[in-house]
Amino acid sequence: MTVGSPPPATGDGRGAPDASAARVARMARARQAMAERGIEVLLCSLGADLPWLTGYEAMPLERPTVLVLPVDDVATLVVPRLEAPRVREDPELFDLRAWSEGEDAVQVVAGLVGRRARLAVSDRCWASLLLGLQAALPSATWCTTSSVLGGLRAVKDEAEIAVLAAAAAAADRVAEALLAGDIPLLGRSEAEVAADISARLVAEGHARVDFAIVASGPNSASPHHEPGGRRIGAGEVVVCDFGGTLRLGDELGYCSDTTRTVVTGEPPEGLAELYETLERAQAAAVAAVAPGVACEEIDRTGRRIIAEAGYGEYFIHRIGHGIGVEVHEDPYIVEGNSSPIEAGNAFSVEPGIYLPGRFGARIEDIVVARAGGVLALNRTDHSLHVVEA
Ligand code: ZN
Ligand code: ZN
Ligand code: ZN
Repeated sequence: MTVGSPPPATGDGRGAPDASAARVARMARARQAMAERGIEVLLCSLGADLPWLTGYEAMPLERPTVLVLPVDDVATLVVPRLEAPRVREDPELFDLRAWSEGEDAVQVVAGLVGRRARLAVSDRCWASLLLGLQAALPSATWCTTSSVLGGLRAVKDEAEIAVLAAAAAAADRVAEALLAGDIPLLGRSEAEVAADISARLVAEGHARVDFAIVASGPNSASPHHEPGGRRIGAGEVVVCDFGGTLRLGDELGYCSDTTRTVVTGEPPEGLAELYETLERAQAAAVAAVAPGVACEEIDRTGRRIIAEAGYGEYFIHRIGHGIGVEVHEDPYIVEGNSSPIEAGNAFSVEPGIYLPGRFGARIEDIVVARAGGVLALNRTDHSLHVVEA
C-alpha cells in the first residue's frame, strides 16, 4: 500500500530556529538513550553522529575532532584550532574547546571524560585516536555510538523525510534520463557513463556525488562493480546504481540511492524471465513494509519469490539498508534483524539477481514506513527498458 505524497520541502537556511530546536531535542533523546544503557559519555568523532547531533561535520583528517557528550553535564566540541572557524557555535548544544598544534588532543578529551568509565565511541573513529584514548583511559569500557544512537537516527522526522524526498526526486530525474536513452551508452566506457551520471546528479541539485556504479555485460553480475574502461556493446545489460548528498538551505545533507537496469538493444537470453522475477520480488518486498513488521521479514518476502523462481543462490546480499545522513545506516533489512520497522524508518529495497560470467540485474528504491503503510520516494518506472542509444 502507498499512502500520501512526499511532504513539502521545509528548512530555509542559516540559523533556522527549527533546526536548532530539533538538535536540542535530539541531544536530549541521546542523553535519555545513554541513561537507559548506562553509558556515561558519548565520544563522536568522524561519521554522521556528530553532524546529526550538532550540525558540524568533522574533516576526515588525522587531527582529532571529538564531541564529548556526558550524560550528566554540558557537551564540549573539541576541534583543531585551525578548524574552529568552521564551527557554527550553538551554546545551547555545546561548548567549544579548540586545541592548538603541540597540544595533546587525546589528553584534552580524557580530561573532559574525567572519572566516567562507560564510554561509547563513533563507529567511524580512527584507530590511532581510539588507541590513544584507551591508553589514556585504562579503566574505561567501550561500545559503539551506533548501539546508542542507531535507533534514534533511524526514525526520521518530517523535515528529514522532506530532504530525503527531494534527494530521491533529484536522483529520479537522472534515472528518467537513463531510461529515456538520454544518457548515451553504446560504445562508451563504464567510467564515461559514470562521469555523465555524476555530473547530472550535481546538475539536479546534489551537493556531492557519493557513488555512481555502471556495470555492463558480465560486470553487471558484480553488485558493487567499480566502473572502468570496458566499452558498452549492443545487447548488453547495464546496471546503474547511483546517489549523492542533497542539502536544502544550509541544513544537513541527506542521501539518495537508486538503481535501474537497462539493456542496449536485444536482451540476452534469459534476461526477461530473470527480470520479471526481480520486479515481482521488489514490489512484494515494498508491499510488505509496515510499522511492526520485522526487518528480516521484508528480506524474506523478496527472497522467497526469487528462490521459488530458481534464482535463490544468485541473490547474494541483504535486501536493503537504512538511509539518512549516511547512505548506509540503521535499520538493516537483513535476515537476523528481527527488530520491528518503525514509522519514520527510511531504507532501500533493492533485490538483485546475479549470474556470474553472464549478467545481473537490480531494482532499488528508497521507501519510508508510514503509520498506514509505505511511501516510495523513488518513482521511476521499474519495467525493463531497451535503450538503443
Ligand atoms: Zn550497494
Ligand atoms: Zn544503491
Ligand atoms: Zn542501496
